[in-house]
Amino acid sequence: MKIGFIGLGRMGAGIAANLVRASHVVSVWNRSADKAQPLVELGATLAANPRAAAGDAEAVFTMLGDDSALRSVLAGPDGLYAGLKVGAIHVSMSTIGVATAEELTAKHAEHGQHFVSAPVFGRPEAAAAAKLFVLCAGSAENLERIAPLLAQVGQRVFPIGAKPANANLVKLCGNFMILSAIESLAEAMNLAEHGGVGKRALLEVLTNTMFDVPVMRTYGAIILEERYRPAGFAAPWGLKDMRLAGESAASFNVDMPFLRVLDANLVATIANEGTDIDWSGIAKTIADGKAAR
Ligand code: NAP
Repeated sequence: MKIGFIGLGRMGAGIAANLVRASHVVSVWNRSADKAQPLVELGATLAANPRAAAGDAEAVFTMLGDDSALRSVLAGPDGLYAGLKVGAIHVSMSTIGVATAEELTAKHAEHGQHFVSAPVFGRPEAAAAAKLFVLCAGSAENLERIAPLLAQVGQRVFPIGAKPANANLVKLCGNFMILSAIESLAEAMNLAEHGGVGKRALLEVLTNTMFDVPVMRTYGAIILEERYRPAGFAAPWGLKDMRLAGESAASFNVDMPFLRVLDANLVATIANEGTDIDWSGIAKTIADGKAAR
């Protein structure tokens, strides 16, 4: 299939590579062109701008940092709204807000284009290994058209229904829970360490009893080894997700008290450590006694 791929950061690079390896004809674009070079070496074509990446593609994937980055590749004469052909599908994999997904659904329809939200669970290693969990929402016809592509980048695809924004809502709920797990694990490890048990011993018990789940195993190892840099998922993107979850909570008039704790600890982590730290760096903030009070 002819595909466009826009956004070759930590996640996008691995996903795009898997689509190239699956023998699709892939046209790529990234704001910093140097990141496209490995993809070109793999067989992709470098596009001059988002519009050119759309060309005569049947589907264009975007994997950009946040809502405003996504809007910037959609707008203007060189953007995706101008470039995507009538009937083609924009597959948005970024973690974006519910309101943004609703806006994009409407605007693409005005242009005679289709929109599918396909945010993912899994860090860059999972993206590179085609082991992502993909959530996808859009019309049944569009989901069927892109199903083979999603199967080539993930280990399992979860259809969430016809409304694209609902996939984003599920993703935001999931990220809120992942950071909640990191927060509770970090606090418990810090307590065990101070009591003389040791983080490793605690983690060994937890992950082999009541908490035998990927999120505890993955982040437990990161916290144990203090592997916060280079970031797999940068703290500012994590903060963005907590803010997006908060926006949805406000729009549905739902209170999320724990979200405020997570938000404050990410803010403290970025202030103390800079923007290049992994979101699990909140564990360092807790261990250093610098968590928000
Ligand atoms: P990343 O490595 O920081 O990459 C961000 C991408 O967005 C880069 O291609 C960057 O281009 C581009 N970008 C940022 N601002 C832009 C702008 N104003 N205009 C055009 N392009 C812009 O981030 P990532 O970790 O791949 O995350 C990408 C998305 O996936 C985010 O929505 C994130 O929440 C989500 N996600 C991440 C993970 C993870 O573990 N990393 C897991 C699941 C979902 P440049 O190269 O030019 O900077």
